[in-house]
Amino acid sequence: MPGMEFFGAAERKEINDVLETGILFRYNHEAQRNNIYKAREFEAEVANLVGAKYAHAVSSGSTAVLCALAAAGIGAGDEVIVPPFTYIATVEAVLMAGALPVFADIDETLCLSAAGIRRVITPKTKAICLVHMCGQMADMDAIMAIVNEHNLVLVEDAGQAMGASYKGVSTGLWGKTGAYSFDFFKIATACEGGIMVTNDETAYKHADSYSDHGHDHVGSNRGMEQHPVLGFNYRISELHAAIGLVQTRRVPEIIKSNNAHKAQLMSALANVPGVSFAQIPDANGDSATFLNLLLTDTDSAQRTVAEMNAAGVGGFNYWFTNMYHFINQWNHIKEMKTAAPLAIEKLGAPQDYKNLDIPIAQSVIGRLISFGIRASWTSEEVAALAMNIEAAVRKATLVEA
Ligand SMILES: *Cc1c(COP(=O)(O)O)cnc(C)c1O
Repeated sequence: MPGMEFFGAAERKEINDVLETGILFRYNHEAQRNNIYKAREFEAEVANLVGAKYAHAVSSGSTAVLCALAAAGIGAGDEVIVPPFTYIATVEAVLMAGALPVFADIDETLCLSAAGIRRVITPKTKAICLVHMCGQMADMDAIMAIVNEHNLVLVEDAGQAMGASYKGVSTGLWGKTGAYSFDFFKIATACEGGIMVTNDETAYKHADSYSDHGHDHVGSNRGMEQHPVLGFNYRISELHAAIGLVQTRRVPEIIKSNNAHKAQLMSALANVPGVSFAQIPDANGDSATFLNLLLTDTDSAQRTVAEMNAAGVGGFNYWFTNMYHFINQWNHIKEMKTAAPLAIEKLGAPQDYKNLDIPIAQSVIGRLISFGIRASWTSEEVAALAMNIEAAVRKATLVEA
């Protein structure tokens, strides 16, 4: 997750542009801002990077997902298919929108699978919130076939896959709307920030208004602007946008280094017994922020994790026991522990979240260890990591023999 590796002079320069004028707010103040509009530039940079007609910057990746849902027309009582393996923000956004999450199974792409989706589709299914996990992408040909067959709304949470693509089309642009995160751990960071993308003008306008109390942003008198739809405040500041702008420019180089490091790791580990890799539906479109290793079973993966911890090998995630990325630990959702009642508590949950039938997710996530790839690594550092991984796997699998 390399954005944070590259905070430097270019970021400081863009922040200083904003500090020079003191206009930290993205809208209005035309006379004082000296034509400095970092949020607008940030949006144009992201739109250009991914090939979107429209991009709208907001306060976080989480609020970008919420805006993407609202702008796609998903709200109260709508059943939305979601994956059980994702950053929890996806599911939270569906719940905060008043909609009802329906969990479906995944496959070795680490994303929702067509087969998993088919098993939970009902006439009540309104949308799929597809998440492209660990820098990779879902199998879009199979997903689009179902979306079209059942006339579903597709919203993409590409929070950890900005810059990734499938057959030349960026993640985030397959559906009606999409979302990227610029939090501190993503491929590009604004420290806090997010971007909603779409090729649909109405969806863009709704996101633009929804994220700023309904403002239509026409004219130069904020207090007299029209409010075509109800909204709330999910605005980004000019300071965060300034950082996101520079970091977005760095993404093509980061993706190049990431892919070189990932290829080196995969070839070094290709012949290690018991090791395989998550499936990458389009290897040419990988943003390669993670090396996603699959062990033969959950026990071997957990023993490998223990060996790596003992040897001091850091920089990896074992999502199966992570509190925020896998449903097994989401007791607050299963028991609906809320500060105040959500729509789902009045409408009723569409599934029993304590007894979901997601066997492939249980097996694949149990076997998965993801190593965060740093773009700034040297090839010696990559080689050393591959050796450490191999040593840990060999020790862990010796126990079995
Ligand atoms: C990071 C992430 C988010 C949330 O982004 P924030 O900017 O941290 O709010 C949402 N979805 C996915 C898949 C993510 O990885």
